[in-house]
Amino acid sequence: MVTKTKTSTNTQSSTKNKTQSITVAEISQRIEHHLKFTLDEQINVDQKPAYWRATSLALNDIIVEKLQNTKARQQQSEVKSVNYLSLEYLMGRLLSNNLHNLGLYTNTEKALKTMGFELADLCEQGADLALGNGGLGRLAACFLDSLATLDYSAMGYGVHYQHGLFKQSFADGQQIETPDMWREFGSPWEICRPESSQTIPLYGHIEEVAQANGTIKSVWHAGKTLKGVPWDVPIVGYNSDTVNALRLWECRADNAFDWDTFNHGDYLQAHQQQVAAETVSKVLYPNDEHEAGKELRFVQQYFFCACSVQDIIARFENQYGALAEQSHWQTFCEKVAIQLNDTHPTIAILELMRTLIDNHNVDWDNAWAICQKVFAYTNHTLLPEALEKWSVALFQRVLPRHLSILYRINEAFLNDDVNALWPNNDDMRARLSLIEEGHEPKVRMAHLCVVTAHRVNGVAQIHSDLVKQDLFPEFDQLWPTKLTNVTNGITPRRWLKACNPLLANLLDSTINADWAKDLNRLSELKHLADNADFQQQFMAIKQQNKIALTKEIKKLTGITVSPDAIFDVQIKRLHEYKRQHLNLLHIISLYRQLLANPELDMQPRVFIFGAKAAPGYKLAKEIIYATNKVAEKINNDIRIQDKLKVVFLPNYRVSLAEKIIPAADVSEQISTAGKEASGTGNMKLALNGAVTIGTLDGANIEIAEEVGDDNIFIFGLTVDEVKALDAQDYNSYQYYQNNAEIRACLDWLDTDYFTPGNPGELSSIKESFLAGGDPYKVLADFQSYADAQLALDKAYRNPSQWAKMAILNTALMGKFNSDRSIEDYVQNIWHLTVSK
Ligand SMILES: *Cc1c(COP(=O)(O)O)cnc(C)c1O
Repeated sequence: MVTKTKTSTNTQSSTKNKTQSITVAEISQRIEHHLKFTLDEQINVDQKPAYWRATSLALNDIIVEKLQNTKARQQQSEVKSVNYLSLEYLMGRLLSNNLHNLGLYTNTEKALKTMGFELADLCEQGADLALGNGGLGRLAACFLDSLATLDYSAMGYGVHYQHGLFKQSFADGQQIETPDMWREFGSPWEICRPESSQTIPLYGHIEEVAQANGTIKSVWHAGKTLKGVPWDVPIVGYNSDTVNALRLWECRADNAFDWDTFNHGDYLQAHQQQVAAETVSKVLYPNDEHEAGKELRFVQQYFFCACSVQDIIARFENQYGALAEQSHWQTFCEKVAIQLNDTHPTIAILELMRTLIDNHNVDWDNAWAICQKVFAYTNHTLLPEALEKWSVALFQRVLPRHLSILYRINEAFLNDDVNALWPNNDDMRARLSLIEEGHEPKVRMAHLCVVTAHRVNGVAQIHSDLVKQDLFPEFDQLWPTKLTNVTNGITPRRWLKACNPLLANLLDSTINADWAKDLNRLSELKHLADNADFQQQFMAIKQQNKIALTKEIKKLTGITVSPDAIFDVQIKRLHEYKRQHLNLLHIISLYRQLLANPELDMQPRVFIFGAKAAPGYKLAKEIIYATNKVAEKINNDIRIQDKLKVVFLPNYRVSLAEKIIPAADVSEQISTAGKEASGTGNMKLALNGAVTIGTLDGANIEIAEEVGDDNIFIFGLTVDEVKALDAQDYNSYQYYQNNAEIRACLDWLDTDYFTPGNPGELSSIKESFLAGGDPYKVLADFQSYADAQLALDKAYRNPSQWAKMAILNTALMGKFNSDRSIEDYVQNIWHLTVSK
């Protein structure tokens, strides 16, 4: 194998000890340097934003050095590298996490103290990097953390959205969206890499050109080009030698292309093109679990895929030499893995095919073999409305060459693979085809992924089983080893060590190991779950975290809550399948019971919500409005003696989750069975000692297996029971008629009790349960949910029983370390080796 001259390195094999030994004085010096020379600020002015920025820049200097060392080391060792393609990364804030991962938190805290600042305060300063909607984007962020922690070579690819997920506020209970301005004044964590810019063709037509050897070559004459400019965000491993990068693509007009217009004097027209190009990476589409279907979104996906694929090839050729040499195709497969996070980056498959064939003279069969070896795909949803399909007409207009490649893939697939197993079966061909025929033919993106990828994984065991049984049964017959499972995980660095320092300290002093790396070591707590002394320490920390959240609630909403109440938390995107409205219905029922009997024997409870609704999702927004209106009434009703409070915290995001989760007693994971692919919020909350009330859905099932039935409250229909109900024509009216509590609560929503003077404002929720057919089986699960809540209330009132449950939840979450997920991907899909 011919390789380019290797960079000679004198990298120390272990830099981690080096960073940890950076002294307090040195950190102070570095911060002061940036204050003075980068920011032109006076030292010791009382200006948190300036100190936040200077601290971040000082840290970034250390990180960038480590990034360079990592790159050199990875190149030299020629390890295989994974390229994680995701349209979303929900990174949150970076300062606290980077400090913890580098082992510099304590020394930085000391340095800042001498300058008159609390590090914890400064960590609150930066904006969240909210370049994602919810679980899918947060998963990508956790995976990058684990990849660097485990010393794997990895590049995250994403979009450099100018505006991430919208900011949410409430006006009279209604959700208001405003643009996210995360980099209004620049971010200290990103490095622009103009030398790695890409030029991306689109639109135009194909010319078939006869070759000298008698074959025909397709030449794409693009109608337009875009420029992709990469910004790298360093990803710091925890207590490791590795800093990888997240490469985010920003779209700009291609200057070269605009030359003509400038020369013809149409200066303003040229600027228009600039504006049009910039819209491609302007904003994150805010639809969770729902495809947007708009041309700009399609172009955004393509732009992202094309930039990333071209960059992957450029990086490969830079290290190993030109791909055009036949001997290097094999090397490419050995050194490159590409993971597709859902179908959003599917076009990368067609783009790699096109590039190999049109630009690198690889023949069809070899190009296809390379793609099959390199790509793997993660499925995240079974919801039909979230399965992406793009109209063939749109494809034809924007990406004519890619469409012709897709047709040829489809032909080979139908004529060879499908025909071999189901000869001359038109019905099967229509079902499996990459094209959905009909009035408006569409490309089925998931089918292209499954046909191409060598592995397709679901994200929790039940979900992967359903992918096989219900979503892709024929594909599973065709390729019995292709469909597999990798259960999701979360990084214990962000979701315990950094966000819950009190508990982290207790664990440090109890467990003689780096539990934040080897989370299974927490199982040693099992032996302390019954220990009264330990219970007292564990619950005292929960209490302190609850007091802190109490203050945050007061600050954000003005509502006063008692830390002695049960803190019952449902935080996640607002979606019918997640059933915030089941929680709401139960709250209304509790309120009714309390009004009927103010002496009702129950532990006071605070129901805490955090959720954004997609701006176009009408019912989701009405559920937010209803919850706020019910909250207003309940929180101001002195008759119920503070036994019930309802708090909807605005602008749910990673940094808010980090405040809520350490203070949660109860974790609401109440999706309709079969609808939540995995969930990861469930893992974060359990890890921090919250007890789950949940359905047998997604990873809840595996959480229940880990903690045992005594330490979780399971209720509701199972997947099979939901299917049976659907098969026999589920009739939600029956529950309304037969259950007096349900009837009373739903009828209450029709009155103006919660919306004085405006009866009917909350009726749409009732309508969705009745005339709407209750597609998510809220009424069918209501009684079982209410019963589980009663059992939970009883358990909480036995403090030592509750403490034991809480401790065991923390103790038994080892499986859900995202490091374990990454090792599963490595063994089963990527086959990487470490580089350290
Ligand atoms: C973890 C997380 C999610 C995912 O929560 P689920 O309950 O699994 O849907 C969504 N948003 C944020 C900000 C998160 O941190």
